[in-house]
Amino acid sequence: MKKIYDVVTVGAGPIGLFASFCAVDKKLSAAVVDALPYVGGQLTALYPQKFIFDVAGYPKVTAADLVDQLFRQVTQHEVPVLVNFKVVEMVREPDGEYKLTAEDGRYVHARYVLIAAGAGMISPRKLELEDADQFVGKGFEYVVKNVEDYRDKRVLVIGGGDTALDWANFFTAMSPEVTLIHRSTKFVGFEGSLKRLQKTPCRILTDTKILAIKGDAQVTGATVTNIKDSTVTELAVDRILGCIGFTPKLGFLKEHGFEIADGSIRADKFMRTSVDNIYAIGDISNHPGRIKLISTGFGNVQIALNHIASLVHETSEDETLASFESKVDRPEL
Ligand code: FAD
Repeated sequence: MKKIYDVVTVGAGPIGLFASFCAVDKKLSAAVVDALPYVGGQLTALYPQKFIFDVAGYPKVTAADLVDQLFRQVTQHEVPVLVNFKVVEMVREPDGEYKLTAEDGRYVHARYVLIAAGAGMISPRKLELEDADQFVGKGFEYVVKNVEDYRDKRVLVIGGGDTALDWANFFTAMSPEVTLIHRSTKFVGFEGSLKRLQKTPCRILTDTKILAIKGDAQVTGATVTNIKDSTVTELAVDRILGCIGFTPKLGFLKEHGFEIADGSIRADKFMRTSVDNIYAIGDISNHPGRIKLISTGFGNVQIALNHIASLVHETSEDETLASFESKVDRPEL
């Protein structure tokens, strides 16, 4: 017999992880899926080492540690967390539940769907270099898959935002030679991260862009140039990480009849979208007064799930809230 979850969340960023934990707290069966090979959404993909100061209960926490805690919180319960699950189709079955199908053919069924897809699929912006793609997986990457690949290697990081600064800082602790190049003198990342990096041995080259990646079976170097004076420098490196931003893509969501406003999905006061039994929470949700922050997304979670729980358990929303506040058993962490 097919398994139908009460709630399936699309997106295992901070909001999707928290939603899946809260769903089980409200006695709803739940699963969460994400297109990426890891959980944490933007926090893992864009700024893992940056400190976050505005999440309740944490005076200061790195994005990676917050994700770790959210993951521990959700996996207290038996919630399937399915990664590498890029939803490409969402179809309503004759019995009213939704079938969400991934690119590789896997699927899950849900009575209610929470869309917590952030800015949509996070795809790295590509370098404008003809041969760059041929080096992907041979020492050149846009997304760090395994930090151990960088240990004791000469590393070149490209970019001037939080992701580039965070990774450059991170690698200085494990790699003998780290170089950061950025095409401007003005960094757009967190000032504290830049100051921290300036205190490390990392070589920082501003007004500099990459011209070519060198190597054959593996990356062996990079040719870079100073944009202002056109001097060309050859760098001997083993690993190159391109962190020049990410392009958000709404993907399958565009084709499902949602009301889209400013690249996100319009939601009402219960976080309901214009499509039956589908709710939008976190950054993807467009509702009056919204702010794209982790804490406001956590608030969306409670509003949406309290509404769904009242429908599933056929109680009023006030009754739902009161009954779950007292009955939840919390396993030891
Ligand atoms: P996301 O984190 O974007 O996660 C969405 C997930 O959905 C992604 O993992 C994506 O792969 C997945 N997804 C998308 N489409 C599909 C699909 N079709 N199938 C399956 N999965 C899919 N906020 C703060 O509160 N404090 C801060 O200090 C802070 N600093 C920030 C610094 C930077 C550099 C940036 C960029 C943002 C910062 N933010 C901060 C904002 C915060 O990161 C976002 O508000 C938060 O990530 C939103 O979480 P989310 O779960 O809604 O979306």
